[in-house]
Amino acid sequence: MKEFKNESYIDFSNPENRSKMEDVIKKAESQLGKEYPIIIGGENITLETKFKSFNPAEKEQAIGIFQKADKDTGEKAMKKALEVFEEWKSVEPSERAGYLFKAAEIMRSRRLEIDAWEILEEGKGWIEADADVAEAIDFLEFYGLEMLRYGGEQPVVQIPGEKEELFYIPLGVGIVIPPWNFPMAILCGMTSAALVTGNTVILKPSSDAPKIGHLFMEILEEAGLPKGVVNYVTGSGSVVGDYLVQHPKTRFIAFTGSKEVGLRIVEQAAITREGQIWIKRVIAEMGGKDAIIIDNESNLESAVDGVLYSAFGFQGQKCSACSRAIVVTEVYDEFLNKLVEKTKKLTVGPTKLYDNFMGAVINEKAYNSMLSYIEKGKEEGGKLLTGGEPAEGNGYFIKPTIIADVKPGDTIEQEEIFGPVLAVIKAKDYDEAITVANDTNYGLTGAVYTLNREKIEKAKKLFHCGNLYFNRKCTGALVGAQPFGGFNMSGTNSKAGGRDYLLLFLQAKSVAKKIV
Ligand code: NAP
Repeated sequence: MKEFKNESYIDFSNPENRSKMEDVIKKAESQLGKEYPIIIGGENITLETKFKSFNPAEKEQAIGIFQKADKDTGEKAMKKALEVFEEWKSVEPSERAGYLFKAAEIMRSRRLEIDAWEILEEGKGWIEADADVAEAIDFLEFYGLEMLRYGGEQPVVQIPGEKEELFYIPLGVGIVIPPWNFPMAILCGMTSAALVTGNTVILKPSSDAPKIGHLFMEILEEAGLPKGVVNYVTGSGSVVGDYLVQHPKTRFIAFTGSKEVGLRIVEQAAITREGQIWIKRVIAEMGGKDAIIIDNESNLESAVDGVLYSAFGFQGQKCSACSRAIVVTEVYDEFLNKLVEKTKKLTVGPTKLYDNFMGAVINEKAYNSMLSYIEKGKEEGGKLLTGGEPAEGNGYFIKPTIIADVKPGDTIEQEEIFGPVLAVIKAKDYDEAITVANDTNYGLTGAVYTLNREKIEKAKKLFHCGNLYFNRKCTGALVGAQPFGGFNMSGTNSKAGGRDYLLLFLQAKSVAKKIV
């Protein structure tokens, strides 16, 4: 069996790579505004109702035109997925894994193209876009290898006079509902885990990232995946997404997105509908209010860089983004001065230009919500140190914003903003910093900057989050190395990219045979 290795990133400081990327972005721009169908059982379907996906950095620029599925289209996808499941469930695990390995190869060869579309459709910076595609490749490779492991013989105790066995079988039809912010990685990760385990999938991409979903379908087709194993149904989450979640034949839902939508899915999936003969399984990964603690015994330069990158990388639109810096009194002023100085130097503008560190935020609704959180932060007594207003341009640009002297319990200290807004909170000592860090409904990522070993051990025990880091940023979990998923309202702790993940898409059958 080949060994898993994380994909390395493209070095865009190399002029040759830079110029290749620029050419690919130009090529993508020449293809803007095309129409894309729904794909059910390999059939391309167009509908009368459509919607557009837009470039957030160029408000009126349509990325593409997509079909808005209604319930009938959802039903059609369900029928096809149920039909194809009857064959797909019996395909050997190694054959299923083979499709993932092939898809990984194709994704590698189309990497710059996917990067370019992420830059245009989601406003990702080049490095962020490339990291997303690298992660998607990692998921394909890792879950392919994991399926080989789960498809092999499983250890069980042998009782004298019997032959004991345990093997894993798929669940059925799964609905995969990803967010827009890691448009290839999360979409590909959840879908590939579901299909490699022998399930069939209805993939409902985010309405802010349907183009990347379509690219993924092209890759699966090129890899030769049988038609109907994955069905691509674009449209509103609250219409076709809701319909499919409630459908009695839905066996499981793999969701990543906001707490509000996740909780609705959990609630709806818990209701037994007529004709339903199982308890639906829900894998729901949701929001965060992630904190970085800066202790007095730390390397402040490195803490400033870690917070800067975690808070403002991809405009703070990561579930893992640092939205709270909790700083021990002794170093509070020094840390803030250094952070503000560096933040003021960050460049904001269309990310099709490599030199812009921050791009636009995803859409108008998100933009307005972020600006109103900034106002709320000030109203509640926070001190605006930098940013706090839109940046120039024809897109949804917001300057990186730091609000200091935020108190524990303030709105911007508790609610997920999902934008480039950092709340800074003063803690009298390390213990108080941990208490503040834990005092939200979430528990996704966290980091601690301290050089004191005892303090590290303390945070290991007491800082309640699914992914904890020391003396480094709190974003950028790597497949296989840092399985990802949070506690509390951050979700079901499914640990994407970990050894337990595929079990969520499988059920185990135990067989005992008397030796006669
Ligand atoms: P979102 O608004 O919750 O949407 C996520 C997905 O749910 C979209 O595909 C959306 O479709 C769909 N949806 C909306 N309403 C639905 C309904 N009633 N039934 C079924 N599906 C429905 O989240 P987002 O803005 O895309 O993503 C940002 C959020 O995701 C943040 O809270 C972030 O923290 C979280 N996130 C978490 C993780 C993690 O691993 N924990 C990773 C990444 C992001 P439409 O687009 O058509 O509405």
